[in-house]
Amino acid sequence: MNQISDRLAALSPSATLAMSQKSSELKAQGVDVINLSVGEPDFTTPTHIKEAAKKAIDDNFSFYTPVTGYASLRQAICQKLKNENGLEYTPDQIVCSNGAKQSVCNVVLALVNKGDEVIVPAPYWVSYTEMVKLAEGTNVIVKAGIDQNFKITPAQLEAAITPKTKALILCSPSNPTGAVYSAAELKGLAEVIAKHPNMYVIADEIYEHINYIGSHASIAANKEIADRVIIINGVSKGYAMTGWRLGWIAAPLWIAKACSKLQGQYTSAPSSIAQKASEAAYLGDQSCVETMRQAFEKRKKLVVGLVKDIKGFVVNEPDGAFYVFPECKSLFGKKTPAGETIKNADDLAMYLLMEGHVACVSGDAFGDPDCIRMSYATSDEKLVEAFARIKKAVENLK
Ligand code: PMP
Ligand code: GLU
Repeated sequence: MNQISDRLAALSPSATLAMSQKSSELKAQGVDVINLSVGEPDFTTPTHIKEAAKKAIDDNFSFYTPVTGYASLRQAICQKLKNENGLEYTPDQIVCSNGAKQSVCNVVLALVNKGDEVIVPAPYWVSYTEMVKLAEGTNVIVKAGIDQNFKITPAQLEAAITPKTKALILCSPSNPTGAVYSAAELKGLAEVIAKHPNMYVIADEIYEHINYIGSHASIAANKEIADRVIIINGVSKGYAMTGWRLGWIAAPLWIAKACSKLQGQYTSAPSSIAQKASEAAYLGDQSCVETMRQAFEKRKKLVVGLVKDIKGFVVNEPDGAFYVFPECKSLFGKKTPAGETIKNADDLAMYLLMEGHVACVSGDAFGDPDCIRMSYATSDEKLVEAFARIKKAVENLK
């Protein structure tokens, strides 16, 4: 008998990971699938970072570390925040975790009480709403469609705030849309937040380094709300280190302490070796980050052109991250060659996988059922082939 707790029964599995797994299963059966579903850089971790990890093993960094991470790593993160973002933090305000995913979840669990409202602009990354559910909070979805470049306005934020609002989860650069909030846009949101002293901002900046409009802006730069902002970041995306599992928060001290308490009972610190590798990432030569960013920018241009060439998709130009999120609702209602109706983006994603052998993720799990997400963190050759297959499959819909 299945006696799963109510808490977990209410939770949806990660749609991004589920689609990626489906694509791996088809591959294992010998199907030549191109996987545009999961969002992770295809680059390997830069050599100097790998060397630091090897050295850490030889130097016997094999013991439990402080729960929040080695002081040297937290110091390196503070240096990064100062140099790259102009923000002042002390190492006791940094908590390192097993990936930015755990960092977000720690903060949600540390802040949200049963019934508290958390404002989540849609489209959102699939895990935010599930984490809020885990904390027994209430998701308040604020929709920002393609017509407003997937960014919420201060007026929309203001309208969503109630006395129960505990937090806003803001992701910039955004997964899944690639939208990037400018410093001026963040200031507009900060002015609203300043009027509501009981709410916090969970600012997910994991795609900070994958930015095509110049510099990254953090909402934490707005002094009037800085003591209510929790920055989420990590090495997964910018340094091509998804498998190492190292994310972190920079937060007001009491929130950092709460996350440390939670993590101390739950997972302890992240891996000692991943920590030493991440320290090398932050302290070492940063040219690898720029090299990868340029490659993503080149692919973005390629992919936007390829998507625009497919009738039925409407795409905006992403300013960061490595996803395109075209609107595909004009294809709903069409029939596949097998006579099945494409009712929604879930059906379209399944059709593209089974007929075109390209794995994408339906926009449904991201809170925008009119769209579909494709990751372009793969080689030019694969992208060209993938979009040729998608085009053919879409043209076969009648
Ligand atoms: N936030 C966003 C927006 C992401 O796309 C991801 C990617 N999984 C994460 C957080 C988590 O990153 P990590 O791999 O470091 O857990
Ligand atoms: N963030 C990536 C994505 O959205 C990785 C998968 C995940 O952790 O959800 O595809």
